[in-house]
Amino acid sequence: MDITTETISSLKRKYAAGEASPSDVLDALEARIESTEPKVLGYLRRNLEKAREQASVSDTSLPLGGIPIAVKDNINEDGEICTCASTYLENYLSPYNATVIDRLQAAGAFTYGRTNMDEFAMGSSTEHSAFQKTNNPWDVSRIPGGSSGGSAAVVGARSAIAALGSDTGGSIRQPAALCGCVGMKPSYGMVSRYGLVAFASSLDQIGTFTRNVEDSALILQAIAGYDPMENTSKQQEVPDLCAHIGKDVKGLRIAVPKEYFGAGIDAEVAQKVKAAIDWYQNEGAEIVEISLPHTEHAIAVYYIIATAEASSNLARFDGVRYGHRSSEAKDAISTYHLSREEGFGAEVKRRIILGTYVLSSGYYDAYYNRAQKVRALMKQDFEKAFEKCDLVLTPTSPTAAFKAGEKLDDPLQMYLADVYTIAANAAGICGISLPCGFNSENLPVGLQLMGPAYGEPTMYQAAYAYEQAHGWSQQVPSIT
Ligand code: GLN
Repeated sequence: MDITTETISSLKRKYAAGEASPSDVLDALEARIESTEPKVLGYLRRNLEKAREQASVSDTSLPLGGIPIAVKDNINEDGEICTCASTYLENYLSPYNATVIDRLQAAGAFTYGRTNMDEFAMGSSTEHSAFQKTNNPWDVSRIPGGSSGGSAAVVGARSAIAALGSDTGGSIRQPAALCGCVGMKPSYGMVSRYGLVAFASSLDQIGTFTRNVEDSALILQAIAGYDPMENTSKQQEVPDLCAHIGKDVKGLRIAVPKEYFGAGIDAEVAQKVKAAIDWYQNEGAEIVEISLPHTEHAIAVYYIIATAEASSNLARFDGVRYGHRSSEAKDAISTYHLSREEGFGAEVKRRIILGTYVLSSGYYDAYYNRAQKVRALMKQDFEKAFEKCDLVLTPTSPTAAFKAGEKLDDPLQMYLADVYTIAANAAGICGISLPCGFNSENLPVGLQLMGPAYGEPTMYQAAYAYEQAHGWSQQVPSIT
């Protein structure tokens, strides 16, 4: 078995035919990890013994039976350390499972490996992890993207079959694009956030990293659906996500927003994405030009709303209940101050300060309220667009993977990496990034398809058709 080319569906076939067992897969994966991890550093922790036990008892007749899945380190898993890549939670042991973990297990999967990330999911390069820097498997001098950079890097390196991540402003799609894998953010409310450590609750969604499009639909089908434990979880029925996989794209109306090919986009990225647009047109899709006029405010809106929600969500880390407590503290106030001062990294502090500022009296109306109004307009832009089209097609990231350190001292440049991904979170719609070629430096480029809320089946249809015709997803990095 060549573990670098297997997918969930190919493993399911092998299990059914008795050609391999989940334990064989785990062994092959561990061998791959041993050769790639010293250079990639995508995992924070792995518990091989526990995974071996789970592999040996897995029921391969279930939808994800015997499939190992890596998990971003901000999703609670009973009995596992869950650090959010923060010193603050270095020793935090989860007392319960996130709903997605329960659902993966009910579908027969087992988890293997906790992946690196930007601290509390704040960042676009995974360089804000308090513990280690993860490298891009296609060029280890470059970043894997973020904030789910560990999940993207291990799936891209073919040292994981699939992984979970979280996407608040692009944290699944952008690193997937940069690491050459498929990354999917579901519609808001489709997947329970119960047990995901909150960053910006009105934007956060858990989603998938996979080696191909079909695997993404298989995992999403297992984890999606109403959860009474989570108050933004929607009661809406989850459609059959594979219903349109395998159908052609004839007659699909695919929109290209003119604002998404403006200043700041790398020429090679634009060229690859335009080639994909031409492919869809040649296959009989109708390409419509649309305008998403409020996109120009996306970054400003996001960095007001996300920081505001983060400052409120992170107030729970007060040195009292769990996580880091300063040994220097003398009273309640110094417990708060010193524990937060010592436990949080610079980017997290920057977000808390920004968020507190935009929520403070006197500035609330000028910043927070105004951002909410513009967010509503961004949402309306998409509602109008989806009257004229089935899907919106854009680049995922304005550039391919950048060099480690390149944007670390310039937060604004780092924030601009999210320019094409943020709108889907603001509008609550679904988005997928899939490989659409390699640039002249052999770095992957990603294509983004966005659909209306609960429009995942059509999004998967279009993504699958493109993937089958191109085979970019089958490329395996050599990692040197
Ligand atoms: N890069 C964005 C940020 O830093 C998005 C992060 C995310 O989606 N979690 O906030």
